[in-house]
Amino acid sequence: MDTKAEILKIIAIDGPAGVGKSTLALSLALNLNWICLDTGAIYRALALVILEKDLLKVTPLQAGQLAQNLDLEFRRVGQAIRLYLAGRDPGDALRTLPVSRLASQLSAWPEVRSALLPLQRSFGQKGELVTEGRDMGTVVFPTAGLKIFLTADLLVRAQRRLNQFLENGQPANLDEVREDLAARDHSDESRSLAPLRPSQDAFLLDVAQMTAAEVLDLCLKKAKAVFAL
Ligand code: C5P
Repeated sequence: MDTKAEILKIIAIDGPAGVGKSTLALSLALNLNWICLDTGAIYRALALVILEKDLLKVTPLQAGQLAQNLDLEFRRVGQAIRLYLAGRDPGDALRTLPVSRLASQLSAWPEVRSALLPLQRSFGQKGELVTEGRDMGTVVFPTAGLKIFLTADLLVRAQRRLNQFLENGQPANLDEVREDLAARDHSDESRSLAPLRPSQDAFLLDVAQMTAAEVLDLCLKKAKAVFAL
């Protein structure tokens, strides 16, 4: 019997904020001609809706209901799945610090996580998916054929994230970015439901001293071996 045929063609990438998950996921998807799903964008979309509604004291129950009724549409743009909120591309509005902070806070609430779980899983039905987030390998796709957990020192991640902000013309400073990443890591690692941690069978990779191209090359080799591509 060919056991390779049973391997679920999903690559689940997890790791802390700013470690390079999105870059790796998209380049893997482009190379393999698979699709790519950024699950953080879904939590961010919920945060944006709540900020736009000015719901300063949103409760877990309310947030869970809003998560269930999110007006989201997913359009395939090349290999990426781009998220549209109420018919519009939210663009950089998803990437601001207030949205990041609120997304992290909301993601600790079971009502929110359970509302968003079936939506995320629905993208894996046909396989050939590269997905990234915090609990891809542990909760959302525990049977993924390849699980990758990226790590890098906080300061390295903060510097890289700062460069991204500046390249996009968004004002930011290193201290603010570092504090944001540290606070979100702490919250993601310490929450009781789906905390950020590597799945036991994950391939662990410290990328602090590696270029994006080196990370891609290594992970692509791994994927080709695992999925016999
Ligand atoms: O990945 P990104 O930084 O865009 O995610 C925003 C926030 O959403 C994270 O800080 C994390 O708290 C939450 N998140 C999560 N589970 C995921 C993806 C993101 O809890 N699968």
